[in-house]
Parts: sequence; structure tokens; C-alpha cells
Amino acid sequence: MVCLYCGSRTEVVNSRPQKRLNQTWRRRKCRACDAIFTTNESIDYSAAIIVKHKAHLESFERDKLLISLAASLGHRTSAVADAAALVATITQKLLITAVNGSVDVKDITNKAYDVLSRFDTLAAAHYSAYHNDTPQL
Ligand SMILES: [Zn+2]
Repeated sequence: MVCLYCGSRTEVVNSRPQKRLNQTWRRRKCRACDAIFTTNESIDYSAAIIVKHKAHLESFERDKLLISLAASLGHRTSAVADAAALVATITQKLLITAVNGSVDVKDITNKAYDVLSRFDTLAAAHYSAYHNDTPQL
């Protein structure tokens, strides 16, 4: 990876696995300008999961799920961090049940609702109100 300030080569000076988020955190240092910055390596789920809709297929968009969960968790001060951790849990569960890397869009909303309801019932009720195919309360 090159420096975001000057474009020169960088080296990794520290690295830590983040099991909860299934990511690797890395501190990088530029060899030319000594700038220090952080990167997070994570799986590209858009290439690993295909979402089946009634009439078409599309790549899984992690950010779409993240935004949806963060909106439902809006009453919590840690909404975005909680949503990121829940997305990691949901995608791991989806990959276990995916057939040849593809999942039905309904499976995503049902898994999201299921994981969310164990974490925060108010957020699950909010999520359910915005997704018609989740179980009714
Ligand atoms: Zn640099």
C-alpha cells in the first residue's frame, strides 16, 4: 500500500487481528514522509455472497445492512459500532447457510431481525417495521 499523502511505499509497523469484526487492523508508516496511518483489512463480501431477489441477483452490500442496522439502533450511543459488530455476526451466519455463495434476500432480513432481537428488542421492532418480510411481533 502507498502513502495517502505522498504516494510512496509504506511499511506495517503494528498489526492486530480483530476477531469480533473479523478484520486485521494495521498501523502503516510511510518510508518517505514518515506519515502514519491505519488500515483495516476485511473480507470482500460483495464478491463472496450473491443476493437472490424475486426477479434478479445482486452482490451483497455490507454497507446497506450496516446503515439499516445503525438506523434501528439509533437510540443507542454506540449505534454504529454495535451495527458493525452485528453485521459481522449476520454475515458469518449467512455464509454458513449460503448455497454456493448465494442467499435469498429474505434470509438476510430474517437473520438480521433474529440477531437484532437477541441484542436489542426495541431495535428489532424498528427493523421489523421497515422490512415487511421479517416475523411479525
Ligand atoms: Zn508519505
